[in-house]
Amino acid sequence: MTGLVKDITDWVGAVQVNSALRERIELWRDKAQALEDKVVELEKENAALKEAAAKMQNQLTKPLTSSDYVYHKGAAFKRLPSGGANSEFVYCPKCYQTMGSPHGIGVFQCSFCKHHAGFSGHELSAIQRELAKMIA
Ligand SMILES: [Zn+2]
Repeated sequence: MTGLVKDITDWVGAVQVNSALRERIELWRDKAQALEDKVVELEKENAALKEAAAKMQNQLTKPLTSSDYVYHKGAAFKRLPSGGANSEFVYCPKCYQTMGSPHGIGVFQCSFCKHHAGFSGHELSAIQRELAKMIA
């Protein structure tokens, strides 16, 4: 019992009140206690969320290294913290820039260093399935 609930309890103990008023005051005290309990619960939840946000922020700002990627058929795919790899985006294994497939059907090429992957845009879904099996 802290703060408002203690004040209510102390006040009720110090003054003469009839039973109807006492009942009403006890109801308010119970509501105040429920609010104080909720504040404690929300403060704990807020602290946990702040900690999780700080961890995620740290992951976002951490520079990636070659071990943060999975390599397959001349391309690199970002490893996911949960395991596996994000196969939606294809990266150059030499300079780690994104690679594109001309018109979604050509061979993936790095726009920065011109490295070619070993597959074309129309093969991407097969590459994604291979990648999923490799990592599983
Ligand atoms: Zn490149």
